[in-house]
Amino acid sequence: MSHSDNCIFCKIAAGAIPSRKVYEDDELFAFHDIHPWAPVHFLIIPKMHIPSMAQVGPELAALLGRMMVMAPQLAMEQGCNAYPEGGIRILTTTGAEGGQEVHHLHVHVMGGPRPWLKG
Ligand code: AMP
Ligand code: ZN
Repeated sequence: MSHSDNCIFCKIAAGAIPSRKVYEDDELFAFHDIHPWAPVHFLIIPKMHIPSMAQVGPELAALLGRMMVMAPQLAMEQGCNAYPEGGIRILTTTGAEGGQEVHHLHVHVMGGPRPWLKG
């Protein structure tokens, strides 16, 4: 499950589909959402193809932890305002009823002055 041929986020992580990159390392890739809900809205994904949080077991705890640790750090770099007056919203969708449209695990990170389009 390292990579899925028909997955748009696998292609973005591989650079095969262009994106506005925020961050990249061996395990993670972050890029701006194409339809932002907030003044700052980017997605953090694992490079490995994991369909959703429903497939995450204890062996992925460190990777998921890194995604959560990266979220506020990258948000500050992208111009989000500091906690507590500023802050960010971190969201992940899982399955159709969870509102998931792209089935490659991703964490939405949103911030910036309100009002926002949604969220
Ligand atoms: P979700 O509903 O949680 O699956 O969110 C998927 C997100 O991916 C949406 O907010 C889309 O706007 C975003 N998205 C889809 N395709 C692209 C793309 N090519 N580049 C950047 N963001 C995308
Ligand atoms: Zn994928």
